Formats: sequence, structure tokens, C-alpha cells
Amino acid sequence: MAKKMSFSDKANKRAHTMTCPTCEETIQFVKYMKAVKGDKGGWKMRAQNVGVCKCNNAEIYG
Ligand SMILES: [Zn+2]
Repeated sequence: MAKKMSFSDKANKRAHTMTCPTCEETIQFVKYMKAVKGDKGGWKMRAQNVGVCKCNNAEIYG
């Protein structure tokens, strides 16, 4: 009786999707390469998993 929501709950977890509370778009997780400064003054590329929705779409994709 207490597990009314279990089906959609499980489906959500399996799909690994989230909805942005601000724009209500589905957040997609993408690998994002970011340039970070190395200890010798050079630049290194670092892969990062970031969630992309309408809020930061322009920021991520330029
Ligand atoms: Zn958003």
C-alpha cells in the first residue's frame, strides 16, 4: 500500500534523467571539456560531466 509511486520512481532512476526546477526542461548529462590551469602555467583539458538544460545551454555550447 505504501509503494504507490514505485513504478515511476524506478523508471526515473533507470533513465537517469532529471528535470530542472527552473526551466522545467529535462537535464541532459554531457561530457564537457573544460580548460583548467596546470601547475606549470600551461592549460590542461579536463572532462567533466555536466547537466545541461535551457538555463546553461548557451554557456555549455557557446
Ligand atoms: Zn534549467
